[in-house]
Amino acid sequence: MWFILFFGTREVVRDADRPGTGGYQTCPRCGQYALFRPRSARTWLHVFWVPVIPLGGATPILECGNCRLRLVSTS
Ligand SMILES: [Zn+2]
Repeated sequence: MWFILFFGTREVVRDADRPGTGGYQTCPRCGQYALFRPRSARTWLHVFWVPVIPLGGATPILECGNCRLRLVSTS
C-alpha cells in the first residue's frame, strides 16, 4: 500500500483579486497592526503533491502579513 503516500487532499491558498477587501488591522494572534491580504483557499485532491481535482468551492480568507494567520473573510 505504498501508493497511499502519494495522493490525498490538501488546502491550496492563492492570492485573490478582490478589490475593497483586506487592509490593515490588528491581528488577534500576533497583536501586530499588519496588512491582511485577500486570498482564497480551496481543498484539492493531489497526486504526487500536484493538485489535480478541486474539492468544493473556494473559501475567501484574509491572511496576516506578519504571522500568516488565516481568517475566513466575511466580505
Ligand atoms: Zn498576525
